[in-house]
Amino acid sequence: MAAYDVDLFVIGAGSGGVRAARIAAAHGAKVMIAEEFRIGGTCVIRGCVPKKLMVYASRYKDHFADAAGFGWTLAEASFDWQKLVAAKEKEISRLSAIYRDNLDKAGVEIEDSRATIEDAHRVRLLADGRKVSARIILISTGAAPVLEPDVPGREYAITSNEIFDLAELPKRMLIIGGGYIAVEFASIFARLGTEVSLASRGENLLRGFDDDMRTGLRERLADAGVKLNFGMLPTRIEKTPTSYRVSLTKGGRLDADQVMIATGRRPNTSGLGLEKAGVERDSLGAVRVDAFSKTNVESIYAVGDVTNRVALTPVAIREGHAFAETVFGGRPEAVVHSNIPTAVFSTPELGCVGLTEMDARAKFDCVDIYMANFRPLKATLAGRAEKTLMKIVVDGVSDRVLGVHILGEDASEMAQLLGIAVKMGAKKVDFDATMALHPTSAEELVTMRTRTARFEREVAGPEGPDAAPLGSG
Ligand code: NDP
Repeated sequence: MAAYDVDLFVIGAGSGGVRAARIAAAHGAKVMIAEEFRIGGTCVIRGCVPKKLMVYASRYKDHFADAAGFGWTLAEASFDWQKLVAAKEKEISRLSAIYRDNLDKAGVEIEDSRATIEDAHRVRLLADGRKVSARIILISTGAAPVLEPDVPGREYAITSNEIFDLAELPKRMLIIGGGYIAVEFASIFARLGTEVSLASRGENLLRGFDDDMRTGLRERLADAGVKLNFGMLPTRIEKTPTSYRVSLTKGGRLDADQVMIATGRRPNTSGLGLEKAGVERDSLGAVRVDAFSKTNVESIYAVGDVTNRVALTPVAIREGHAFAETVFGGRPEAVVHSNIPTAVFSTPELGCVGLTEMDARAKFDCVDIYMANFRPLKATLAGRAEKTLMKIVVDGVSDRVLGVHILGEDASEMAQLLGIAVKMGAKKVDFDATMALHPTSAEELVTMRTRTARFEREVAGPEGPDAAPLGSG
């Protein structure tokens, strides 16, 4: 008789969990996976995929407006939110079914139930109370939006969990936060016809991104009609008979039909039984893991957002795959969390890979900056003042490209491909040696010859930073 019911029990069928389950099964493991909501996880059900569909929907506003410049005459356009929500639902249901089917085909047993950990080798299925023993347990429960700041009336606010299925398109919406989700949804809803206000505690959007891109995007959001309020947060949310009244710091007040909080996400670890098994967490509740996604408990691993390493879908998938190869494929693989291309799916998009200018200047002695700021060809006939912004950050000593940042149409597509070059350690001279493809926006990346700026760090003398300045005493 087998020592355990299964070789691998996966808790959570999102991007990381599904990949891990399938690859482990392909290596001959007996695998069971439990999911309390819908197969596919945040990305497929209420994250990346439905968000991108809504981004596409929102951009038709710009396409219709631009069409006249290219000779088209269109009847007045109108938008039907319910139709979009229904179409989106159909597509994510299709995708969720494909995920389920793929798990089935791989021979993975699916349990539609919440599962909690009993001990290092046992899991309990809450749907029927069954206990399942497993040689290895994988935690891939993802993360969930937080409702912060903790102000009176915050329960009236929605999060990205609810935004996709609103019964109606709000006429006025207040978005709280200045990160990925706040920016993306401000950009979407402003184009769909909602009056959008955004309130963020910071002085600019998207902390951590390159400053020139942040400023450029902030201007583009304002152009799209988003009212931006910085250094401002709600102090109270009240329900009125027709809407919500939000009091803001600095004495501001705002009425909105929906208030959306987008102030970050927390790992889904509470009530999971981690204490029982002795699994360590960090101060945010994230499961602590080593480079191979193993927790401090020999038989328990964790991948994806629940570990709060880099909370992005492709990272979770890679971590899930690497875990399965390590534990069931006999090929140990540690995931490298650097040079990960990323994009903010606003309009225009912000796509980047590698270090920002500020990060590079903090780490390298000599940093060269190459910038291009140009009006894309399409904008000329469309009659838009729109500019595309590109920045290449280079190590002035080795000539290696440390980072590339793009604000403009298709920036995400460019960032994905640039990821290969940056990951391979391409030098600026390699970019220069690459033939341009004309006419594209991306050709600017290989034709930026003139350095915009060079930043050299003051190098301390042989006795270190405290050495006396030259010429003194
Ligand atoms: P982010 O971490 O991107 O941004 C959070 C925002 O909320 C920041 O502006 C932050 O301000 C602010 N904030 C944090 N805590 C508080 C608080 N207590 N009170 C007021 N403001 C606060 O989180 P998101 O929710 O936008 O997204 C979560 C994660 O999901 C992202 O980090 C990303 O990993 C992932 N994601 C990725 C996407 C993509 O790849 N395109 C799209 C959507 C999400 P401050 O900057 O001052 O800290």
